[in-house]
Amino acid sequence: MTDLAARAADLLHLRRRHLAKGDPVALPLTMTSMFHLPGDPAGFAQYGRFDNATWEAVEDALGHLDGARALAFPSGMGAISAVLTALSKTGDRILLPSDGYYTVRLFADRFLSRLGITADRRPTASFLDGGFEGYSIVYIETPSNPGLDICDIAVISKSAHAAGALVVVDNTTMTAFGQRPLDLGADILVSADTKAANGHSDVLFGHVSSRDDAVMAAIAEWRKLSGAIPGPFEAWQVHRGLETLELRFDRMCSTAERIAPRLRDHKALKAVRFPGLPDDPAHNLARVQMDRFGFLIGLTLETAEKAEAFIDGCRLLQPATSFGGTHSSAERRARWGDAVVPGFVRLSIGCEPAEELWSALEEALDAVG
Ligand SMILES: *Cc1c(COP(=O)(O)O)cnc(C)c1O
Repeated sequence: MTDLAARAADLLHLRRRHLAKGDPVALPLTMTSMFHLPGDPAGFAQYGRFDNATWEAVEDALGHLDGARALAFPSGMGAISAVLTALSKTGDRILLPSDGYYTVRLFADRFLSRLGITADRRPTASFLDGGFEGYSIVYIETPSNPGLDICDIAVISKSAHAAGALVVVDNTTMTAFGQRPLDLGADILVSADTKAANGHSDVLFGHVSSRDDAVMAAIAEWRKLSGAIPGPFEAWQVHRGLETLELRFDRMCSTAERIAPRLRDHKALKAVRFPGLPDDPAHNLARVQMDRFGFLIGLTLETAEKAEAFIDGCRLLQPATSFGGTHSSAERRARWGDAVVPGFVRLSIGCEPAEELWSALEEALDAVG
């Protein structure tokens, strides 16, 4: 926790280390495809697909938080597809969660399969069962979105490494302030910074972090050659968002911890999933592995109709897909075909004062009975 506090404090002063007298304190937005480049180009910024000072600043910030080198991408899927593609070859087998972010499985089925890369699937809660022999990449998402199941990053990393696999962790739901996969033994972290990292619901962004130089060289080359580069303005927005991540995440997690037990006791809810609840199946591992319990809560209402009425009827809930914004939001995940019951709602707690939010949630739950 002290280490995290130190990182949070230093984050706000990272840029100062590079400033010369008279430089702007706020990060300038570098919008250029060309650089002034007469003669020998070696050692200079060359072209907008290779270099951008605003990317570098956000990568400094993200890498600082993850304790690794970071590379920025135009979306979470941009980062994830870069890792899975750049680090795989024909004949490889990779292992994915069957209950994680759906698009990752779809990407493997639609595109990796054509390259002769096989993707197997396993539920997050029993991810260790069956071992990791024969896999080149073991990819996990914990807590899983949307079911909020958890798997043991340290134990999986140890076992996967013994089998010769690289371990990739999607850290989107926790951010660097809630969970530190690389410290637990994972090789590569991916994140959809579209969510809490940016936090203002106005940008898509992603990043890859790793302490493995060979991995990062491959990912950097992939980005440069494939052209999957982030826009400088989006990088600037995420850099700004990161300045308040610790503050926002702390508020969001604290509110979730306060509200989850009250939700569990509400008669309109058949089930509540939150790793911070002592009787949640994920609780014991979450206490060891995570610094916080996160800001996502899974709610099960009796029917799809009641779930929709609750979401639409709550004055402090934004009905929307995606999560991690300053405003609380919610959606019924079965509308996208997730393997959950029709009345399952993913609730993303925002930055509203906790008791205000609770009153609004309680009112809306009382109304649907
Ligand atoms: C949203 C999300 C992604 C994909 O991010 P995009 O920015 O939408 O491409 C990946 N993983 C998880 C866990 C997510 O929630």
